[in-house]
Amino acid sequence: MSTLRNELKIVTKGWWVAIVVATVVVIALTLGLVSGAMVLDRSHNVSAPEIILLVPMLLLSAVFFAAWLTVIGYIWGDAKRRKMRHVLWTLVAFFCPYGLGIVLYFVLRTPAPPTCTDCGAIGRAGFSFCAQCGAPLTPFCPKCNRPVERGWNACPHCGIRLAEASPTP
Ligand SMILES: [Zn+2]
Ligand SMILES: [Zn+2]
Repeated sequence: MSTLRNELKIVTKGWWVAIVVATVVVIALTLGLVSGAMVLDRSHNVSAPEIILLVPMLLLSAVFFAAWLTVIGYIWGDAKRRKMRHVLWTLVAFFCPYGLGIVLYFVLRTPAPPTCTDCGAIGRAGFSFCAQCGAPLTPFCPKCNRPVERGWNACPHCGIRLAEASPTP
């Protein structure tokens, strides 16, 4: 859950505002159109259950609409972070029907660049140290100084026990 919250941080504040405004406008427009149609169409008597059914359907559509806009905003920030063509990908995600552009993006996106655990700066693929604060972006074996991965118990290059040599942060 916390990773999801961290991921959603790349959706800009301006876009969150746009999502709320767009969702409210769509709800208001739909309500306006429906009530307008009911006023015009006096001959057709709309019963109360029909209107009550309409409200949850409208709210559900609004939730889907807001979620879709959130994904579009996420793709903008995520593609930018991964040094992909973020404008192009956002347009593809926005205009491709049935969310095909969104699926395509998540299939084709390049691997995420390493993020500095010390200062939060975003590095680039192949960077070993943070360009902002100099902290190591990938853990190193304390004996042979070759890159190792988190969760490894031993260094595959020199065989030293990593859990004993360097306590995981
Ligand atoms: Zn850093
Ligand atoms: Zn080693």
